[in-house]
Amino acid sequence: MKVGRFASATDPGRKRRLNEDAFVVRPPLFAIADGMGGARAGEIASALAASALNEAPAENGGGEELVKQLVQEGNRRVHERASSDPSTSGMGTTMTVALVEPNGDVTFGHVGDSRAYVLRDGQLEQLTDDHSLVAELVRRGELSARDAEMHPQRSVITRAIGTDPDVDVDAFTVRPQAGDLYLICSDGLSDMIPNSSIEEILRKHRDDLNAATKALVKAANRSGGDDNITAVLFEIVGDDAPAQTADPDQPTREHAAPSFDEEDTLHPEQGIAPPPAPSDTMVVPAAEIDAALAAEPGPAPPQAGIGRRLLALLVIIALIVVIVALVWWGLAR
Ligand code: MN
Repeated sequence: MKVGRFASATDPGRKRRLNEDAFVVRPPLFAIADGMGGARAGEIASALAASALNEAPAENGGGEELVKQLVQEGNRRVHERASSDPSTSGMGTTMTVALVEPNGDVTFGHVGDSRAYVLRDGQLEQLTDDHSLVAELVRRGELSARDAEMHPQRSVITRAIGTDPDVDVDAFTVRPQAGDLYLICSDGLSDMIPNSSIEEILRKHRDDLNAATKALVKAANRSGGDDNITAVLFEIVGDDAPAQTADPDQPTREHAAPSFDEEDTLHPEQGIAPPPAPSDTMVVPAAEIDAALAAEPGPAPPQAGIGRRLLALLVIIALIVVIVALVWWGLAR
């Protein structure tokens, strides 16, 4: 068995200005990282964790040991940066990785509250345990699963990538069936809609995975869109089935456009100046990560934004000077 079709979608949601989720679609490797931290630190954390996967050699096999190593490498990168760059101190990220082995086995590595699911024979099964306060209380029988869904502290996680020099990674292997559909997603999806809705959407769009990821994002936004939403889907097919050959960047790039909410319109110069450059960290091609992260510790993108705003301000001042001069000249005649 092998990887068949795959698709991905990410969206900032309706409440957040930045998208701090990152994902990797590099068959047979798939992953999600949901970053957290002040300013742009969450974005940096998830991008650094994803970069460890994007730069990993294309392995044939490796199993749970390899998956754990990849997550540990992500942890090392995030922790190193957080320790050396005060502006990112305390940042962290979740990480859920799936690696399809040459025999079709699907090996998972998991830290945090992003989730992996499988849709098998039309039934959705959650594969990962959330490393979250609320999930811990449910496991101990101190909170019902129903109350957990609406719990105000459901986004507090108990394990993260980058907050400590070492991290304990859950690793496990699923023996697949041909026709399995695997979903990895951030909590911006799984906190907004119940598993029953995820199952319904995946069944409805089983034949069009791009439509499925878009429908998942749409449903999470319709339920409030409180957080960044990311979904990665891939299916396992028999060896004789055709594999998808399309560039995996294609479906991801169309979602990389930045969204600007009301907050941005408070800057008057944006009426004239082009909007700040979109952040590429959601898509995380290795080369761009290197350029963005290796260069300088410290938030480079905001500096570019300041330069652009300064330019816009100068243009406005020049325009005002010209208008005042014209009016004055007009009156003087
Ligand atoms: Mn999240």
